[in-house]
Amino acid sequence: EALSNQIAAGEVIERPASVVKELVENSIDAGANQIDVRVVDAGISRITVTDNGSGIDAADVPIAFKRHATSKIATVRDLFAIHSLGFRGEALASIASVADVTMETATADGQGTSARLTGGQMINQHSLPLRRGTMIDVANLFYNTPARLKYVRSQTTEMSHIADIMSRLALGHPDIAFTLRNGDKLAIKTAGNGDLQQAIAAIYGVGTARDMLAFAGDNDDFGVNGYVSLPDNTRSARNYLTLLINGRYFRNNQLVKGIIAGYGSKLMVGRYPIAVVNIQLDPQLVDVNVHPTKQEVRISKENVLSDLITDSIRQQLSEQNL
Ligand code: ADP
Ligand code: MG
Repeated sequence: EALSNQIAAGEVIERPASVVKELVENSIDAGANQIDVRVVDAGISRITVTDNGSGIDAADVPIAFKRHATSKIATVRDLFAIHSLGFRGEALASIASVADVTMETATADGQGTSARLTGGQMINQHSLPLRRGTMIDVANLFYNTPARLKYVRSQTTEMSHIADIMSRLALGHPDIAFTLRNGDKLAIKTAGNGDLQQAIAAIYGVGTARDMLAFAGDNDDFGVNGYVSLPDNTRSARNYLTLLINGRYFRNNQLVKGIIAGYGSKLMVGRYPIAVVNIQLDPQLVDVNVHPTKQEVRISKENVLSDLITDSIRQQLSEQNL
C-alpha cells in the first residue's frame, strides 16, 4: 500500500506547489475563512497550511490519510457543479507517502488531535487542547523519492508556481483571507471581505484596482462577469488571466483568446491584460474527459462562450470610450 500511494503521489504531487494546492483546497472545502500558508526553501524543506475550518474528528484522522477516503463527490462534472474542490480522496495519502507530515486538528475549541506520519505510516496520535481548525505541516518533501526530487527546479521557479496557484485560489475565493509567507517574508495577503477587485489589487499590486473595469454579460447558455484591466495596464505574459467556474480555476486557450479579442487592436502586440473571468454554466456543458489535476478544461459550445466574453469586454471598453 505504501508503494501504491507513492505511485499515486507521482500523479497528484508533482512539485511543492501541488502540495500547497491540495492542502489549501482542503481548507476551502472545510469552510475556512482564514487560510495561512508558510513555506521554507520553496516548500522542499517545509510547507505549513493553517486554517480555521471544520477540523477533523479524532476517529477520522487516520481515515483521512487513507486513499479514497473522501467524504466528497463522485464525478468530474460534479466538480464544477458544487462548491467542493476535492473528490478523489488521494491527496493526503499521497502527500504523507512522500514526506513527513504533522497534523493538528480540532472540530471544536479545546478538543484537538495531533498526528504524525512518516513514509505514510502513522507514528503517533494523541489528543490535546487546540483551537478549532486544522494545521498540516509537510516536511522533507520527496525525501524518499529521489527521482521525483530530481525534477524539482530552482527555488525561484518552485516559489513562482506556489505564488501562482495561491493567487488563483485567492481570486476564486475573495471571501477567504489568504496569506502566503516565504520564510518570514509576506508574499500574498488578501482581505477576505468578498471584494474581488480588492483581491485583484492585493495580488497584482495596489495601483491595479483603479485600472480595472468590471464587465458582465449573458446569453441562453452562459453568464460571465469579472474584471479586466485597462488596455494600457498590460503584462508580457498570460499568467494574469484567470478563468473560474464556481471558484475553480481552469485553463482554456480558446477562452483566453476570447478575452484578448475583446480588446481588438487596443492591446499592443505581445502584451496581455490582467483579467479575472467568472463563468456560470450548466455543468452538463463541462467536458467530462478532463483530468482534474491538469486544470485543462474543455467546454461544449466553447465558441459561444468565447464570443460572449469577447463581446462583454468589448462593450465595457467602448462604454468607457477606451
Ligand atoms: P479529498 O479532498 O479528495 O476528499 P483528501 O485526501 O484531500 O481527499 O482529504 C481527505 C479527507 O480529509 C477529506 O475528505 C476531509 O474529510 C479531510 N480533510 C483534509 N484536510 C482537511 C482540513 N483542512 N479540514 C477539515 N478536513 C480535512
Ligand atoms: Mg482534497
